[in-house]
Amino acid sequence: MPDGMLYIVATPIGNLSDISQRSLETLKSADCILCEDTRVTRKLLARFDIETETLSFHQHSSLNKIEQIIEMLSSGKSLALATDAGTPGISDPGGKLVEAVVRELPYVNIVPIPGPSAIMSALSISGFWADSFVFLGFPPHKKGRETWFKNLQNHESVIVFYESVHRVKNCLERVSDLCPDRPMILARELTKKFETIYRGTASGILNELPLDETKGEFVVVLDRTR
Ligand code: SAM
Repeated sequence: MPDGMLYIVATPIGNLSDISQRSLETLKSADCILCEDTRVTRKLLARFDIETETLSFHQHSSLNKIEQIIEMLSSGKSLALATDAGTPGISDPGGKLVEAVVRELPYVNIVPIPGPSAIMSALSISGFWADSFVFLGFPPHKKGRETWFKNLQNHESVIVFYESVHRVKNCLERVSDLCPDRPMILARELTKKFETIYRGTASGILNELPLDETKGEFVVVLDRTR
């Protein structure tokens, strides 16, 4: 029996036209698409007339679900993993699945299908020299949040992280207290209708951000220290 294949497929972070030809071909030819949220991925599939079967795989998927996927791969199936946006495995459930497959089925081919990623998109327009950078994922919601922000000062290179709309103002307040002069950008809704790039320092951006900001996805980039 042939070994199964697991394709890790990057999908758009907003603008569906950013999907690559190779991602489309992979989604079309796979036996099944594993989706973080089937509703989100099905919208993408509908736009490109792709009728491949889907199966949900998310952060809270049970061990049984992972076993089911391992079983499909062992029986020679070709699976594509697509998360809600961007490159699977970057602050989303993709890493959990790849880790299990590497452990359980070391001979299965795991193939990257590269494409959009919110980190790289934000860095590319930052104007900061990202010859080296650190990516810190999401700050903790509550426990450890204060220490997390204090530790930003320990990184001299460019820093990138994600922040949720519910905590973006708090994030700017903390950065403004701890790194008041560090140039930064706040990239909101990249590739979407309301894409906005705020540039300056945290306190300046805080003043610019609409008071009723209740929507949006955000990436924060801080410049290196000089
Ligand atoms: N794997 C994804 C990637 O490669 O970009 C990231 C997944 S993470 C669960 C989702 C976070 O990415 C959002 O909360 C936001 O911080 C950031 N993000 C995703 N799409 C974005 C966009 N269009 N504009 C700004 N930030 C975005």
